[in-house]
Amino acid sequence: MTRRPYIVGNWKMHGTRAMLSEARAIDRAAQRHMKVEVAIAPPYTLIHAIHREAEQIAVGAQDCHQADGGAHTGDVSAAMIADAGAKFVILGHSERRQMHGESDALVRAKAESALAAGLRIIMCCGESAETRESGKAVAFVKRQLKASLPPADAMPADVAERLTIAYEPIWAIGTGTAATTDDIAEMHGVIRALLVDLFGPEQGAEVRILYGGSVKPDNAAAIFAVPDVGGALVGGASLTADSFMGIALAASEPFEN
Ligand code: PEP
Repeated sequence: MTRRPYIVGNWKMHGTRAMLSEARAIDRAAQRHMKVEVAIAPPYTLIHAIHREAEQIAVGAQDCHQADGGAHTGDVSAAMIADAGAKFVILGHSERRQMHGESDALVRAKAESALAAGLRIIMCCGESAETRESGKAVAFVKRQLKASLPPADAMPADVAERLTIAYEPIWAIGTGTAATTDDIAEMHGVIRALLVDLFGPEQGAEVRILYGGSVKPDNAAAIFAVPDVGGALVGGASLTADSFMGIALAASEPFEN
């Protein structure tokens, strides 16, 4: 691949200010691995603090509301997280889709709002175990992604810069069992073809497609060797600098996707 591998930590609902030391350690280590783009998405409450201190890593959010503002108690807009220092937002994570009932249309509205606020987006997609077992994983992911992404004419011209896809099979998230490299290769190939179809051969070929689901330092190199894998979205293993940067290290070895 022509672009730097992108390794993003999703801290989920983990982390108080005591975790800032871990963010500092990740930032220091990232300065030694400049061939890799490293970023973390902490809870909202830590975005500004990490943004103020970080010299190398980007900080992002795990969600945003689709409206610019208004009577939405407890919600946070894209402009607010950008103001706090976020450079990107993760959207359509399966935990949002499942636990908060987020539909594809809602995820798409959030994406449009985030892009309008100048943020980069990481759009998640992925099938359940039942869908995979029924042989419908590819069709499901294609449909989910197409319905969750803004149409090409609503995307900024630099699509590949502003959009990242994360393929995260639900059954692999937090289970310790990553998808096989064959399954990852198949799905990333399908997603690449869809991106080329939606955004044209130049932009579509350059959008990074991350794999997410039980990525650890010991399986990362094999996953990064799969064609069309442009990095990883990492949950559990992003919570300590040691394991997260072990994954970043695996991405800094030459890989030609
Ligand atoms: C995630 O939730 O985005 C994720 C990939 O989690 P984990 O790495 O813990 O499977």
